[in-house]
Amino acid sequence: MSNYRPLSLLNNDYKVFAKILAFRLEEVIPSLVNLDQLDTKYIYVCHAELNAIMNKNSADLKGCSIYVTLFPCNECAKLIIQAGMKEVVYLCDKYHGSLETQAAKRMFKQAKIPFREFPPKETEVVLKLKSV
Ligand SMILES: [Zn+2]
Repeated sequence: MSNYRPLSLLNNDYKVFAKILAFRLEEVIPSLVNLDQLDTKYIYVCHAELNAIMNKNSADLKGCSIYVTLFPCNECAKLIIQAGMKEVVYLCDKYHGSLETQAAKRMFKQAKIPFREFPPKETEVVLKLKSV
């Protein structure tokens, strides 16, 4: 229990870190970001894995499995490895030929974190909003 930290403290740490990083990058970002990237979503969004890891509902993720829709990219693979997770379960390996996915698989293998596809038994989920 000595390393236990309430989730709200972790979120505050993350917000403070993000703010410091933003201030430090402010001067160099214009030269790092190509202008035609500014109007795309890709440089603004964080991947679901980062969001899940930063907003976890436990003290840490050591020994946990992560279930993802798409195979994690290389950046998320680094986070998963650093978080001490034990397994990656994915639904689809849509970008299996990309450098990001190849690098992620290489890192998982080096870190001895197994990954496996989750074959769903059902192909759809029906949600009835009205029961009449
Ligand atoms: Zn990612």
